[in-house]
Amino acid sequence: MADASELRTPIAIVGAGQAAARAAQALRALGHAGAITMVGDEPHRPYERPPLSKAVLQADDAPATPVLPDAAFDDSRIDWLAGTRVQRLDPAARRLHLADGRTLHYERCLLATGGTARTLPALPPGAPRTHYLRTLDDARRLRASLRPGARLAVIGAGFLGLEAALSARRSGVEVTLVESAPLLLGRFVPAALSDWLARMVAGQGIALHLGQGLAAARADADAVHLRFADGAELAADAVLVAIGLVPAVDLARDAGLAIDADDGGIAVGPGGQTSDAAVFAAGDCASQFRTTLGRRARIESWHNANEQAAAAASGLLGLAPPAPAYPWFWTDPGEHNVQMLGLPAADLQYVCRGDPDAAGRALWLGLRDGVPVHGVALNTGGDLRALRPLFEQRVAIAPEAFAAEATALRPWVKARLAAAAAVAP
Ligand SMILES: Cc1cc2nc3c(=O)[nH]c(=O)nc-3n(C[C@H](O)[C@H](O)[C@H](O)COP(=O)(O)OP(=O)(O)OC[C@H]3O[C@@H](n4cnc5c(N)ncnc54)[C@H](O)[C@@H]3O)c2cc1C
Repeated sequence: MADASELRTPIAIVGAGQAAARAAQALRALGHAGAITMVGDEPHRPYERPPLSKAVLQADDAPATPVLPDAAFDDSRIDWLAGTRVQRLDPAARRLHLADGRTLHYERCLLATGGTARTLPALPPGAPRTHYLRTLDDARRLRASLRPGARLAVIGAGFLGLEAALSARRSGVEVTLVESAPLLLGRFVPAALSDWLARMVAGQGIALHLGQGLAAARADADAVHLRFADGAELAADAVLVAIGLVPAVDLARDAGLAIDADDGGIAVGPGGQTSDAAVFAAGDCASQFRTTLGRRARIESWHNANEQAAAAASGLLGLAPPAPAYPWFWTDPGEHNVQMLGLPAADLQYVCRGDPDAAGRALWLGLRDGVPVHGVALNTGGDLRALRPLFEQRVAIAPEAFAAEATALRPWVKARLAAAAAVAP
């Protein structure tokens, strides 16, 4: 008689987030007819995380946005083990050990485990009045503390901290946003946009402290007490710690799979394959070679999770993966929209089209040898999309022509592509 605690599946997916759901969908689209077993430690069906720092923080009872509509999730015939943690991966036996004591035998396995919020030892998860923001339940708990007049300290002004601070401010919360780096999003966007964002944030009534290190923190039942490197002190009713993500790679590491030494992600090839032939990885936990950087990188974005999920679905079925798309990312700080194409790098020369102060819109291109490698759009994402072929076909441009607002963008792109095609060997 079969052992009821031993489950079997052709394809096991660990994690039930963005990459997991997209991979299951892609497996069906590619014709996989066998079972797919998805094991996720959250109680919810896969949901989109981007709204967690936006809509979900701005209204009580904002609904979750499912990655796949219920009908599509059901159509994908996913055997979903909800609220179940995978504790150990045994690649030699092709077996997952689940926290409830069962084991799951697989033929192929996808690790889509995402990551967890990086924590501050002085403000551990579960401390009074202390928030981290990674899950729907985190967002709902934080939302419940956002009452008009409440004081919220946000530590870390990355994309997530910035969005959350602006969302809280919309609800009438007194927000202090503290960042140890001297510039807002300085590693990702040109300095002119950092400055514009800082002024925009201040204009919303948020107290922004850049270049401010945290020296000590304490949270008790009455308040959160913060002391900064320059001696300044701050008391708040709640604190959100938004200082980045730690990729969830324990299963892979403990199983002896290759981990990238620099970014800490599970090292994968173009089809998501890890150093074990039957195990694949995708999303925030995966580190892949990036041509424009000339090295591996882990990318924490919605688009990357979707792209890597599609590639891993091909890999899981032994098919050639689609060509990797140019990385794309968006963030909505308050009422604004910032989109990025490609990845920033230290050696790029940035050229700007438009004046954010005059029009609230501008577009920057980061060029290497005249070729656009990184694009950043403030409230002008459509224009950035029009430039995408220049990135993909590696077409050099004249910076002055791009910067001149009299140049109509779309015909100019067309002409540049035609000229490049005419001289191509
Ligand atoms: C608040 C917030 C706002 C964001 N905003 C944007 C945005 O504006 N634009 C953008 O491009 N990206 C944004 N992102 C990033 C984007 O949502 C992520 O890059 C994407 O969700 C990554 O997908 P993933 O499948 O790799 O991981 P996740 O979606 O995190 O899914 C991983 C799942 O695996 C589960 N899991 C982990 N380990 C185990 C285990 N051992 N057993 C069982 N289950 C496990 C986790 O609990 C989780 O449910 C945002 C993220 C957050 C948190």
